[in-house]
Amino acid sequence: MTTNETLQQRVDTLLAAMTLEEKAGQLSQYFYFRDMPGQAEPVEAEVRAGRAGSLLFVSDPAETNRLQRIAVEESRLGIPLLFGFDVIHGLRTIFPVPLGLASSWDPQLYERVQAIAAREARAVGIHWAFAPMVDIARDPRWGRIVEGAGEDPYLGAQMAAAQVRGFQGEAIGAPDHVVAGPKHFLGYGAALGGRDYDEVNLSESELRNVYLPPFAAAVQEGAGNIMTSYVGINGVPGAADRHLLSDVLRDELGFDGFVVSDASAVVDLTTHRFARDDRDAAARAIRAGMDMEMFLGMRFPEGSNPVPGACAFATLPETVRAGELDESLLDEAVRRVLLMKLRLGLFEQPYTNEAQAATTLSLPEHRELARIAAERSAVLLHNADSALPLDRSTLRSIAVIGPWADNKPATLGPWVFAHDLNSTVTVLEGMRRVAGADIQVEHAPGVPAPTRQIPSPFAAMEQFLGGASAQAAPFDEQAEFERAIELARASDVAVLVLGEAADMNGEAASRSTLDLPGRQLELLEAVAATGTPVVLVLLSGRPLDLRQVAERAAAILVAWHPGSEGGLAVARLLFGEVAPGGKLPVSWPRSVGQVPLIYSRLNSHQPHTSTMRYWEEESTPLYPFGFGLTYGEVTYANLSLDAKEIGLDDTLEVSVEVHNPSSRAVEEVAQLYLHQRYGRAARPVRELKAFERVTLAPGESRTLHFQITAAERRYWSSEQATYVLDASTFDLWVGGASTASLHAEFAVHDHLS
Ligand code: BGC
Repeated sequence: MTTNETLQQRVDTLLAAMTLEEKAGQLSQYFYFRDMPGQAEPVEAEVRAGRAGSLLFVSDPAETNRLQRIAVEESRLGIPLLFGFDVIHGLRTIFPVPLGLASSWDPQLYERVQAIAAREARAVGIHWAFAPMVDIARDPRWGRIVEGAGEDPYLGAQMAAAQVRGFQGEAIGAPDHVVAGPKHFLGYGAALGGRDYDEVNLSESELRNVYLPPFAAAVQEGAGNIMTSYVGINGVPGAADRHLLSDVLRDELGFDGFVVSDASAVVDLTTHRFARDDRDAAARAIRAGMDMEMFLGMRFPEGSNPVPGACAFATLPETVRAGELDESLLDEAVRRVLLMKLRLGLFEQPYTNEAQAATTLSLPEHRELARIAAERSAVLLHNADSALPLDRSTLRSIAVIGPWADNKPATLGPWVFAHDLNSTVTVLEGMRRVAGADIQVEHAPGVPAPTRQIPSPFAAMEQFLGGASAQAAPFDEQAEFERAIELARASDVAVLVLGEAADMNGEAASRSTLDLPGRQLELLEAVAATGTPVVLVLLSGRPLDLRQVAERAAAILVAWHPGSEGGLAVARLLFGEVAPGGKLPVSWPRSVGQVPLIYSRLNSHQPHTSTMRYWEEESTPLYPFGFGLTYGEVTYANLSLDAKEIGLDDTLEVSVEVHNPSSRAVEEVAQLYLHQRYGRAARPVRELKAFERVTLAPGESRTLHFQITAAERRYWSSEQATYVLDASTFDLWVGGASTASLHAEFAVHDHLS
């Protein structure tokens, strides 16, 4: 008998012993906030009664063990709890935000990062990460663009697969690993106007060609869980979309794990004015293919305070008893959840080793990887007259200026809950460490840290979430501004650390502008006016409007929110101890009015109009997708294809030579783009189809090899209402950005004679 059959038998035995209430319980996941009045006790009671199968938001090992003991020792069947958590970019050790990690264009690095995140999570008793977020995001106003890999389906798919490997290891149940839960199925990133939770309207071709590929890649990699989205696509809420959950996810993609709703999204089927009541919502979610309901444990009646309550899934037993829902549907969902618990080995070892947990968190090797990840995630956008790297032999004084220069929460970014704020290395601390004794490093914030202008919908919960919040120390605006300008004037170089607060991006943190918030631009203008060269370090979770900035700064390094060792990484980059090599995973717009702006647009009308559609500015981005500089130069030559004509199912082999003519090591991401000239649907002007990040020693040349398989040329045609592979002529470009100019072409024929 195979292990799988043994597990299935164990599931059958358990299932046969379960009441309808216990079955619904295994499908119910509750938030658990120990210190929130009125929240914790009812949830514990549900666990004891066998009416909760999973909890989220516990990250203290003693606490996960205590709650697990209630499930194992006090509930009738002793089925262990599954603990889930938002392990987005680290647990204790915080790595760069996902948009930053995507900028590394280094899937192997991302895999290692999530393996460490998984190790820390598992050590405290967490079994399942609500990550990776693989939503394609094409509107930087949307706050959650920070959580994903940007605008491109191919890059998104590579990063999704790498993260699933990192979280889960060889297979579900691997020691020190957790189940990955790619989210939010599907199309959440296309929220109207970039407003979080707003409606989504997507054509079938956009859904399949743009939004689906990262999920397909994650499923192919064996992801054990998928989370649905809050939003509806074309009027059908994600938590009850039978076509997406059953036809597409299960039947087409072959997903065999379990599906969870987003927080309270089943209950919210009534808010959507889709379900009549809880009972209707639960039944329709289950019928659509939902397995587990994530629930806040609280209801939010309009105009009054939240009240504790049960999952909508608690109504499933009565619906079955009334003959309105087939019990086999419930059983199928319970099977998936129990199977996951068995595969994880929770019945054999439900507890975590508390003593070991303490030593696992923040191991030096975890911190080292956090630094490397931050170094590889940074993108150098601008470097006039080689202002960077800083020259130790001539520099005597550096002014480190700006509201985020010594701000730990902004260094970490959003979606951190179990971090150690104190050990976070800010840019100021990093600069002090790396500059050494001969260079004086002084600091002035100049302007106060901007704070949220509209209250957060999570304000009431924030104290229980433990997230990063902005500092609010007393601040003499006039005096501090002047002090910063004086400091800049007296220094050899000014490193300005500008950007966004941690809570300006993430969930419910969309923005209506892409401006530098507060008085930061004014500060930059005044510092630049002193004549001291300005190096801008940008901490942000999205592209910002840099039109006024680029002309005032000698160099711009986008560090994103770089994590626990972020400041050290930035300092090492600025001093040239390591070369920047990150590339943009999003097109960087000139202004908010251009968004959404993507490189892989469709051609229409006359080609010459493509850059001239606005009255007041060009339609092109300020910095294109895939763009990023290094210290030194990179050249491309000898692009060669193994054939000029291939058959429909054939693979094309491409090679190109990358060369570093400069006298220092460079970092580069070679990128290959494809364009189909005609076919059964209009195809994008360019699409990324392969890439490789390389380090080249001074003078080094290397030949890189890429393959373009038939799968890379396959797409969904609305004309045919199916996936097609066209015979056509293709353009191919290779280079260091989506504007690459080294070109070749090839033809694909139906039948090659
Ligand atoms: C978010 C999810 C997250 C969940 C649990 C929701 O509000 O949309 O991405 O995993 O909360 O924290």
